[in-house]
Amino acid sequence: MGGPIETQLLINNKLVPASDKATFDLFSPHTGELVAKVAEATVADVDAAVAAAQAAFPAWSALSPQQRGIPLKKMGELVVSEKNELAQLDALAMGRPVSAYIDSHYAATHFNYFAEAAYPQGHTSLNTPGFLNMSLRQPFGVVAIIIPWNAPLVFFSKKVAPAIAAGNCVVVKSSEKAPLTSWKVSQWIEKCGFPPGVINVLSGHGNVSGQALAEHMKVRALSFTGSTRTGRAIQIASAKSNLKKVVFELGGKSPALVFEDADIEQAAKETENSINWNSGQTCMANSRIYVAESIKDAFITAFSKHAKARVMGDPTQKETTHGPQADKTQHENVKRYIELGKSEAGSTIDTSASYSASTSNPSLLVAPVIFTDVSEQSRIAKEEIFGPVVIINTFASEEEAISKANDTEFGLYAALYTKDLERAVRVGKKLESGMVGINCTSPTGSWDLPFGGWKGSGTGRESLLESMDHYLEVKSLYVRAPGIGG
Ligand code: NAD
Repeated sequence: MGGPIETQLLINNKLVPASDKATFDLFSPHTGELVAKVAEATVADVDAAVAAAQAAFPAWSALSPQQRGIPLKKMGELVVSEKNELAQLDALAMGRPVSAYIDSHYAATHFNYFAEAAYPQGHTSLNTPGFLNMSLRQPFGVVAIIIPWNAPLVFFSKKVAPAIAAGNCVVVKSSEKAPLTSWKVSQWIEKCGFPPGVINVLSGHGNVSGQALAEHMKVRALSFTGSTRTGRAIQIASAKSNLKKVVFELGGKSPALVFEDADIEQAAKETENSINWNSGQTCMANSRIYVAESIKDAFITAFSKHAKARVMGDPTQKETTHGPQADKTQHENVKRYIELGKSEAGSTIDTSASYSASTSNPSLLVAPVIFTDVSEQSRIAKEEIFGPVVIINTFASEEEAISKANDTEFGLYAALYTKDLERAVRVGKKLESGMVGINCTSPTGSWDLPFGGWKGSGTGRESLLESMDHYLEVKSLYVRAPGIGG
């Protein structure tokens, strides 16, 4: 790498520094080197971006869906053709191995789908005599989009594509831990043909720019993916400002249940991947696994084998499958939970010994850790750790399995493994979760089924079919028309 990357903000299709020229430093979580000096957006920058979006809205929303789709399609092409660079940027910023970079494909699917499928529909009614009534679905105006760091381009695309396809103009704030792919994409926006102000991209911390968007009186809807704690703060800011519509995808503490008749090898392989993919930094990772008592030892042996097979190291190298935690704060948090777990768990399987040769000194790598026989009331069983740390506990009956799985304030993704189909459906119905995998676990999903959580895991549902609904207001239009007959 040359010198550090210097990023800018995109406001009204102009790449500009922060209004006070402030930047913050971004360090590689693997080498500790300074990777970028990132523009730190101010309240004035937020105001300028919102004003640009507001000014762009009348013309953008007046275009046909096909016309809005043209630049979206170009963006869909670029995120694929520039995949390698995008993967490198996230590896440098937050340590995701390039081997695990699924974001380009994901983003292209969203840009391409909404380029073609954005035809908001209301309905009509002749049920009031003398009236032709109809409902209209119309864009909000300015929509704010605040994204996390664990899969930045995934969240950028799954929110920006439906929001602008619906006719809104957006202000996106990237995460301070992973701003580089959003910055890269911001450089393509004018080239794709988006008019000035339709997509504005800011970088910065929650405090100042995130908070300023959440409080902004001209922002009419806000879509957020991130922690439950921040979701709560945004909800409060919305309530205290203009009651903007909020859509939340939040944290998780997802359970996986493995019954005695399950395919143990498959369950172990998939649940290990779920928790340790992206070094445990996945919202829907199955961080709590409950296995039938009779298969506990066999399951733990199979699970440990897969955890120990991870290739830990430099995320920019193709062979690496397990990169560092995203930054020092994440690393310290995860390490703190591991220390806590050692006192809270009945036993600990620390796989770090398998990796001693491959770890470099400053790297924020954390080897997978397995805690067993953990009290259900302990902090490691209740709180989202967001690292490669799993709890494997047992159950004696189906009722106990369900009760343990549901004893959480989160409800994002639950999984269960059994060959008994009736039990699968019976248990699946009872799990308090927005998504349930049967003989599969996260990240298994489906483009066309709602993605989102119950309880503290969120308030919205996103998918190719659902997402656009979040970005459209509904209006009932009552048209008096006595001449149309009764
Ligand atoms: P975070 O809540 O710390 O930050 C997310 C974003 O919010 C960042 O851009 C941050 O700058 C911004 N922010 C912080 N404080 C703010 C405030 N007061 N007002 C407005 N914006 C503010 O989350 P994170 O650490 O980036 O991401 C990890 C969390 O995200 C985990 O809890 C994870 O489970 C969750 N997550 C959920 C999903 C999902 O789809 N449900 C997906 C990915 C991540």
